[in-house]
Amino acid sequence: MKITLTSKVQIYPNEDSRIVLMDTMRAYRDACNFVSAFVFSNQTLDLRELQQNLYYDLRDRFGLRSQMAISVLRSVRTCYKARDARSNEWSCIRFTKPQIDLIWNRDYSITKGFFSINTLEGRIKVPLENTVFPNGKFGTAKLTFRHNKFYLNIPVTMERPDISFADINCVVGIDRGVRFLTTIYDSYGKTTFVSGADYRKKREHYYELRQQLQQAGTSSSRRRLKAIVQRENRWINDLNHCISKALVEAYPRGTLFVLENLKNIQKTFSILTTKQGYVLEKWPYFDLERKIVYKAALRGQMVIKVDPAYTSQTCPLCGRRNKQSRIRNKHLFKCTACRYETNDDRVAAINLYSKGMQYLVQSGESMPLFGGARSIVPDAMPVLECPF
Ligand SMILES: [Zn+2]
Repeated sequence: MKITLTSKVQIYPNEDSRIVLMDTMRAYRDACNFVSAFVFSNQTLDLRELQQNLYYDLRDRFGLRSQMAISVLRSVRTCYKARDARSNEWSCIRFTKPQIDLIWNRDYSITKGFFSINTLEGRIKVPLENTVFPNGKFGTAKLTFRHNKFYLNIPVTMERPDISFADINCVVGIDRGVRFLTTIYDSYGKTTFVSGADYRKKREHYYELRQQLQQAGTSSSRRRLKAIVQRENRWINDLNHCISKALVEAYPRGTLFVLENLKNIQKTFSILTTKQGYVLEKWPYFDLERKIVYKAALRGQMVIKVDPAYTSQTCPLCGRRNKQSRIRNKHLFKCTACRYETNDDRVAAINLYSKGMQYLVQSGESMPLFGGARSIVPDAMPVLECPF
């Protein structure tokens, strides 16, 4: 299995290097716009045709070196192809920010704290932020300029041995929600709750702040709004990193994590326009999922997604399904058939865990059960507060 992680690293050019880098990035951007205009009017993405028509212009007009000219053609082509995959609309792509795509070992390399890059003025060396890169193959990096700083985004691809169902020794059901960001039930019979109280409070605060700034409608409020959006995104990114890290580190290699397949969740919540709706709708479930998936893969663990239908209405003890069993306003599950009673989010996590066990059974693998694992444990509820 191949896993690609992107490291974002700051570089620290001196005054001379800054000028050279900016000139190179601007030339690259202008060249991309030049190629984009040609692609748009001629409706072609054929690399050979683009090369025949544009290569010498790219060299003469923009002063690009041979390899850089080819990179421009490839970059523009990739952007159009990616856009094509998303929509059928044919419009001219504009490149607004100065940036440049760099191929490893040809356009850039990294050695002993220095980043070496091909520019319009030849090769230059720039000090690099102290970073430990993952052990793997460096891909095509992107150099960008934001808030007066230069950043390198470097994808590193690692090879990890595939995990099969035969390697599974622990199953963990993970229910994602808002009251508890995650509720976890595992093969050891343990339930863990990550509280969403602080999260909700903070998101509501951001929501109100946004509303105020949007209503103000001045240019300074728009600037402030943009900064707030970025701050909120950074906070959520950090939060999801912490939750996913704590989760994968709590379990051994060979763990099977079971998540709900939340394909339709946005649709369900998009009818809500209230503050609560915003908090729910914007909860970045998919970002958390992506982080769990790659972190698990790096640790020799596996993630499956299962159909979430009825996971909160089915009794984990007797298996009966009844809408009435879930008492939403009390956050309670009370089986109408056998009277089994517990927290409703916990029921969802247990049912996800059971679905994972079913997967294993269907795949023909028997699993050594840890600590006398069972489907139900006494209703002790250790609530781990989310530390953020
Ligand atoms: Zn029951």
